[in-house]
Amino acid sequence: MLTSICGINWGDEGKGRMVDLLSEDFDVVCRYQGGNNAGHTVINEKGKFILNLLPSGILRDGVVNVMGCGMAIDIKHLCGEMAKLKEAGIKISPENLKISDKAIITMPYHVLQDVMEEDRLTKATGKPYGSTRRGIAPVYADKYMKKVFRMGELLRPDLLYKRIPDIVAWKNMTIKSYGFEPVTVEQMIDYFKTYGEPLKDYVTDTGLYLNKANAEGKNIMFEAQLGALRDIDFGIVPYTSSSSTIAAYAPIGAGVPNLKLDNSIGIMKAYSSCVGAGPFTCEYFGEKAEKLRELGGEYGAATGRPRRVGPFDVVASRYGIRCQGADAIALTKLDVLDDYEQIEICTHYELDGKIIDDFPFTDVLDGCKPVYESVKGWHCDISGCRTKEQLPKEALNYIALLEKLCGCRIRYVSVGAERDAYIKMY
Ligand code: GDP
Ligand code: MG
Repeated sequence: MLTSICGINWGDEGKGRMVDLLSEDFDVVCRYQGGNNAGHTVINEKGKFILNLLPSGILRDGVVNVMGCGMAIDIKHLCGEMAKLKEAGIKISPENLKISDKAIITMPYHVLQDVMEEDRLTKATGKPYGSTRRGIAPVYADKYMKKVFRMGELLRPDLLYKRIPDIVAWKNMTIKSYGFEPVTVEQMIDYFKTYGEPLKDYVTDTGLYLNKANAEGKNIMFEAQLGALRDIDFGIVPYTSSSSTIAAYAPIGAGVPNLKLDNSIGIMKAYSSCVGAGPFTCEYFGEKAEKLRELGGEYGAATGRPRRVGPFDVVASRYGIRCQGADAIALTKLDVLDDYEQIEICTHYELDGKIIDDFPFTDVLDGCKPVYESVKGWHCDISGCRTKEQLPKEALNYIALLEKLCGCRIRYVSVGAERDAYIKMY
């Protein structure tokens, strides 16, 4: 069985915690896009972990983790992340971690380029893209320019080192144009020696591995890194990531374009949050925002930035579900709404006096205003509920309403960050 676990909203829906939970039924967990700009928080019996590059299945014994060809891997960051987990007693070896030879490498100059460009944008327009400044946009740009290094090249350093001078010369033209110090060939060789060498044993043809695993009847999960609205094609461009975050890309980004998904589980939050710039129609401001941000602990896992927050957004979520082809939903963080007597939902947008139900083009979003409706809250602590029957009727009504408005069944509801704090609805 091939299942994709993907984000329905702007990210930080709780994908990491759901992957950690659902990975119980899977043999393989595979990340298929993005880089260390992700922050997946997982809390289980082994401790609290924030994963940036490693698939969340790394915390489960017996699960094989794959970093697919759609990923951009910062090798220095990966070495650090692996060391931290090993220190915490997590076993990582080529047996349970396989890195695609076709995955691209985020270099220090990509990070520099990201920073230089965000700073230039800020000065020139006052409107940066809200990048996490981890070099993601520049490395994907270089992928399409065919001037990027790939993990498989670490296995043949002689050939790799021969490619460095021209790429460095080409990249320095950009760096100098921003008025920064050029990078040197020696720095790049040192970098590969320090952070590439230790990863060599993990590099393999993950497509071959995954096809074999599939033929053996193993269950494979694809773990998305960011939500639908951050997708490079379908998201709120340019306030998106630079990769495909959607489920349909999962088999490609994992290395198995020949395989088809059996199902797609969308992770959707009971309210909304958004990190960084860009249109966020349902957004709360002032005290309303502060209350929800505090209750939800909405501070970026990768960056610590306070997240923008708002009520559940039907227009954006219905679009996210469509983009992800989700056939079931895991609704997360329902307990965060415990404190509310009335819960608002953004049911529509309004543009020039007209009601909008379909998620519009990014530019159009700027003019949209939220239309809120409110429903009765449960106003009690549901964090201890473990069955549907234990949930108050107002909570069941809220879940049923979201199902109806979004047109998708909600199979799981989470009521706390710990692994077992969830309810299976059907
Ligand atoms: P991801 O990027 O989609 O994996 O999500 P993040 O890890 O960035 O953000 C989700 C945050 O919510 C983390 O701090 C989780 O520990 C926390 N969390 C996840 N599920 C629940 C839940 O059901 N209730 C509460 N209160 N917190 C949760
Ligand atoms: Mg996150």
